[in-house]
Amino acid sequence: MITLDAVKKIFQTKDGAVNAVDHVDLSIEQGEIFGIIGYSGAGKSTLIRMLNMLERPTSGDVTVAGKNLSQLSNRELRKARQEISMIFQHFNLLWSRTVKENIAFPLEIAGVPKEERQKRVDELIKLVGLEGRGESYPSQLSGGQKQRVGIARALANNPKVLLCDEATSALDPKTTDSILNLLVEINQKLDLTIVLITHEMHVIRKICHRVAVMEDGRIVEQGPVLDVFRHPKEFITKDFVKQITEPEETTDMIKQLASEKPQSKIVQLTFVGGNAEQPVITDVIRKFDVQVNILQGKVSQTQNGPYGTLFIQLEGADQEVDEAVTYMNGQKVEVEVISYE
Ligand code: ADP
Repeated sequence: MITLDAVKKIFQTKDGAVNAVDHVDLSIEQGEIFGIIGYSGAGKSTLIRMLNMLERPTSGDVTVAGKNLSQLSNRELRKARQEISMIFQHFNLLWSRTVKENIAFPLEIAGVPKEERQKRVDELIKLVGLEGRGESYPSQLSGGQKQRVGIARALANNPKVLLCDEATSALDPKTTDSILNLLVEINQKLDLTIVLITHEMHVIRKICHRVAVMEDGRIVEQGPVLDVFRHPKEFITKDFVKQITEPEETTDMIKQLASEKPQSKIVQLTFVGGNAEQPVITDVIRKFDVQVNILQGKVSQTQNGPYGTLFIQLEGADQEVDEAVTYMNGQKVEVEVISYE
C-alpha cells in the first residue's frame, strides 16, 4: 500500500542544513497498523507528513496505492489526498462548526450533494460512537470525543490510508485506550491501512502489527511488534521497551522488597499470549511447591493476545527460578524474566 524508496528530507535553516529524514526505505502492507516510534526530533512528523505530501521529499519516492506522489500534479495530488487522510494530536477541528459540520467539511470540498452528505455524516457519527452529539460544538466535547470527530472527518471520503500524528498524546490513559480500540475497530471493519507515529511504546504494543524505530532521521530497527519487543537490538529500542516493562518506581519498590526478604526471589514476568495470570501462578505452586505471592500484576488485552507484566515473589524455592520459568513456558505463555535477588 505504501512504499518509501530512499526518501530524504533536508530543511535549510539559518543555522545550516537539517537532515530531518535521512534515506528511509519502508514498505507498509494493505490493512496493516504500522507504528513509527522515536523521541522528539527523530524525524517522525516529517516522515508521516511526506506520506501525503504535506511535506515534499528532497529526494526519493513516496508511493501510495500505486501512485508515485512526487510525480503528481497539484490537481492529481488533491485527489490522491482524499485517499490518504490524517488525524492530529490537537484534533485540528473547526471551532465555529458543529460536529456534523466538521465531519461534512471534506465531503463539501469533494462536491458531494447535500442529501448524500447528511446520510454519510450520520453513518460516520454512528461508527465513531458520537450519537446524540451531532449538534454540539467542539468546545462542548471532551478530548476523546474531539478525536472521535477528527476520526469521523478523516474517514468521510473513504480513504485507503489513515495517518495518525501523535493522535492520543493529548489524551489521558483511559481515553487513549478507547481511541486505540476505535482505531483497531475501523482497521478491521474497513480494511483500512493505518500509519501512526508516537513516542509511547504502549500505543505500539496495544495496536500495531509492525513497528519501525526512528533515530536521527533514520529507521534503525523494524519488524513485527512482538519480535522487536522480545529481542530489541538497538540501545534506543531497549529504552522504549523498558518504558513498559520496568517503570522506575516499580523497580525501586521491588528491589526494596527483595532486600527485605533475602531468602525469597522476586521475578518479573512479561508474558504474551495465554489466558491470564492465574493459571501460570497455580502451576508454579503445584509443580514446585513454593509460596508464590503476586506483588503486582497487570494484564491487558492487545492486538497480539493478552499481555501481562507480573512481579512475583517465590518463597522457599529450592529449584532455580529459571527452571520454574521454563515450566511456565510450557504453558504456552511466552515469558521473559528479570530476577531480583
Ligand atoms: P519528530 O516528529 O520525531 O519530533 P520532526 O520530524 O518534527 O521530528 O523533526 C526532525 C528534525 O527536523 C528536527 O531536528 C526538527 O528541528 C527539524 N525540522 C522539522 N521541521 C522543520 C522545518 N519546517 N524547518 C526546519 N527544521 C525542521
